[in-house]
Amino acid sequence: MNEIQQKTILIVEDDPQNLKLFRDILEYKGYTTITATDGQQGVILAKEHRPDLILMDMQLPVMDGIAATQQIKCDAATKNIAVVALTANVMPGDREKMMAAGCQDYISKPFHLQDFLKKIAHLLLDSPRER
Ligand code: MN
Repeated sequence: MNEIQQKTILIVEDDPQNLKLFRDILEYKGYTTITATDGQQGVILAKEHRPDLILMDMQLPVMDGIAATQQIKCDAATKNIAVVALTANVMPGDREKMMAAGCQDYISKPFHLQDFLKKIAHLLLDSPRER
């Protein structure tokens, strides 16, 4: 088992097609995935599973991605997990809001597959967490 296969990624995405796409790609590449379809569920699963990385859609029901990221970053149990924002339409100021909430980076949808995987691999290497 190589290092990539041991990593767990939490995907928080309310669009079923996008969720399936992210999950299929990441599982195919050997990552373990956990999925949530709203921000609140995302916060709960982050705490429960302590994934290595979180992909966080910004427009989500119940609790949006900014609020969910803020909660994750406020909790000592989850604050060291890198959160990557998934964004459909980036408006001026959005990127600053995401970074202020604690997101480490962002991925625009639709994404370029190789760039997406490169970014994921890079973030997982860059942010080793203490267990
Ligand atoms: Mn959404």
